[in-house]
Amino acid sequence: MKYQDEYRDPVAAQNLLRAIHNTISQPWTIMEVCGGQTHSIVRYGIDQLLPPEIELVHGPGCPVCVTPLELIDKAVDIASRPDVTFCSFGDMLRVPGSRSDLLAVKANGGDVRIIYSPLDCLKIAARNPARTVVFFAVGFETTAPANAMALWQAKRRGLDNFAVLVSHVLVPPAMTAVLQSPNNRVQGFLGAGHVCSVMGCQEYRDLARQFHVPIVVTGFEPLDLLEGIYRCVRMLENHEIGVENQYARAVPTIGNPASQKLLQEVFEVTDRMWRGIGTIPRSGYRLSAMYADFDAEQRFSLARIDTSESSQCISGAILQGGKKPYDCPIFGTACTPASPQGATMVSSEGACAAYYNYRRRLSPSNAELSNRQVQQT
Ligand code: SF4
Repeated sequence: MKYQDEYRDPVAAQNLLRAIHNTISQPWTIMEVCGGQTHSIVRYGIDQLLPPEIELVHGPGCPVCVTPLELIDKAVDIASRPDVTFCSFGDMLRVPGSRSDLLAVKANGGDVRIIYSPLDCLKIAARNPARTVVFFAVGFETTAPANAMALWQAKRRGLDNFAVLVSHVLVPPAMTAVLQSPNNRVQGFLGAGHVCSVMGCQEYRDLARQFHVPIVVTGFEPLDLLEGIYRCVRMLENHEIGVENQYARAVPTIGNPASQKLLQEVFEVTDRMWRGIGTIPRSGYRLSAMYADFDAEQRFSLARIDTSESSQCISGAILQGGKKPYDCPIFGTACTPASPQGATMVSSEGACAAYYNYRRRLSPSNAELSNRQVQQT
């Protein structure tokens, strides 16, 4: 398929693998930030093709995974109200809250709708003036501009029956939290290409300078990832800090200024709770004062919600690169995508779900054996 096959070419992949093998001289730990990258790495077995000196650890960049349980419970509470039409992207419907999920609300007669664009919510709100239409705005900087555009249009059209439950999180503060952790092992990053297509590379330059790490802004196809890893290894071996842009076909260095301007109008930066990790300072968006009337949390009086996570779940350590899914005692047994016990099993982009979908028949020792066999061929 055009625009896909050229990024999955096996000969080019072998050339990049050879370059990585020829460049490396010592062990390095590299984190891929985005859950989409984790998914591709595990799906295509990219980590199993690398020299044993390279350890890839999986980062916190899966927005569905890091949405706090408390917010899922708030979504369930709002969606259960008879005068509410609750709109969400499909991947949030199955995420379990403390007692229920949005799919169960829908099954019980709630008006819960899957939408493909936040602008669809405005059409629904305009057609149903007697109902309050609430959109669940989840995601990183990538999805925030479209959600901001829906709010911008709603304000100009006077759609007072539209509201948003905001759970936007930001990538650089999460990378900072990883680097500041006393247990940090990460020496270089593959940055999330789609996030940088909006925000540009400057924030990452500051991060690289502050923590003396290389960051390679990287795409999501196998050749993108192999080239990102190659560039990161080359920078590590040459003791270079800074930012390289592997994903230049989609990422201008300055990002998308029009989107950034819209984000600044609609949102303001705030502390955010990350599921499995905890509160990270200045790591998310809330609505700015100009758009506060659209805030679903303010519009509905929500009871205080206390939540608790499985005591066996180690997803916080996985999201920060400290552990792998195989280290979890209930991986693939008590915890599966059908009954997720923690953050990294709830979405297909979560590391535990990726290992479950593509590697669950391999025990850790078999996975290592398979790894060595691949490297010898
Ligand atoms: S397998 Fe489940 S319980 Fe274990 S770390 Fe992953 S999400 Fe948490």
